[in-house]
Amino acid sequence: MIKVVNKSKLHHLYPDRFVVGLTGGIGSGKTRVARVFAELGAGIIDTDAIAHQLTAPGGGAIAAIRSCFGDEFITDQGAMDRTRMRECVFSDRQKKHSLESILHPMIREEVVNLASRLAGPYLICVVPLLSGGDDWKFSRILVVDCDEDNQIQRVMKRDGLSKELIQSIIRQQPSREQRLAFATDVIQNSADFDSLHPEIERLHKIYLQLSSAIQTDYL
Ligand code: ATP
Repeated sequence: MIKVVNKSKLHHLYPDRFVVGLTGGIGSGKTRVARVFAELGAGIIDTDAIAHQLTAPGGGAIAAIRSCFGDEFITDQGAMDRTRMRECVFSDRQKKHSLESILHPMIREEVVNLASRLAGPYLICVVPLLSGGDDWKFSRILVVDCDEDNQIQRVMKRDGLSKELIQSIIRQQPSREQRLAFATDVIQNSADFDSLHPEIERLHKIYLQLSSAIQTDYL
């Protein structure tokens, strides 16, 4: 069943754009699902890629990270030292919060900027750690759901991380139940990937329909 889009959800952050937030746990398949939406014509915004740009040499967040965390968190090349930062924020909630308060507003600003420029009848914005608040003002939230065993197997294969490390990362992310509670749409990705295509195409048609309704109404 299609939920009717509530006009009050069309926030001025993204004038005239229908923006779907796409989230899911580590290794759930967000990137692969987003790639299929891109092939179908959607514009894709990847907040992980934005965070990487902001923390690369010369990136917009480097000065603030240096002043908050110190020179030792910046490499000789001028990028954020990812390994050091990961270890630091993994064990210290306050530091994690400090890093997020530097990065999140900058990421959001760039998302708004991209949303106004990207082509595509609607946009898919991939946000790995979406936690259910309405901060992002997305028109819909699509969750890629996957059981934990599959997440672990896939990330072990993709990144060569240990099972224990992946489990501890999963524990730090919003739980599967939390994500499902705020989803407007869900894609189940626990079976083989090709079986997802019909579901992605079904959602694509719904998003096309809803986005064209918005654009007509705004004219
Ligand atoms: P992360 O949050 O870590 O960036 P992600 O949610 O973007 O992960 P992907 O990178 O899309 O997840 O998928 C994780 C790995 O699992 C990739 O190597 C991908 O090719 C693989 N994968 C995704 N879906 C399936 C599937 N249904 N069957 C088998 N492998 C899959």
